Amino acid sequence: MPEEPCQCADCQRFYKEHDRLIREFPTFKQQQELSWASIQSFRTLCNKITDELQRQLSEKESNEDLSLEGNHISDKEITEALDELESVNAYLYSIEALMEKIFDSKVSNNIELKFKEIAKQLAPDPLNIDRLILNRLFHQTPDFPDKKNIN
Ligand SMILES: [Zn+2]
Repeated sequence: MPEEPCQCADCQRFYKEHDRLIREFPTFKQQQELSWASIQSFRTLCNKITDELQRQLSEKESNEDLSLEGNHISDKEITEALDELESVNAYLYSIEALMEKIFDSKVSNNIELKFKEIAKQLAPDPLNIDRLILNRLFHQTPDFPDKKNIN
């Protein structure tokens, strides 16, 4: 019996997004640029939030009475978030170093045409096996109990 791909909301969102990124960025060069932009935007946002949370924390320390409108984030939440963001930033930094290596690679125009051709075949397929493998990262709920021992 073939393994049924998971159809939970997280997985379905992943299938859709995965295909969109292949359809809209069907060349080697476009995928390079997309990955780079994705890492950089994630880093930019995380860094900005880190700065903001640190500022908020130090303002609270210097002024106990300060109560900002609509600010319901506790010190504990801020401290935990800062720890998480620090790890994420370190990982993103490592990924960025690897992405620079990937950016060194180039393919000829003929190979780019091949990319486009294959992208067209790949993106409409809702059950692409490569995507299903990748999606284990996005999958938020455990698989059926009887599948636990397969891997
Ligand atoms: Zn799922």
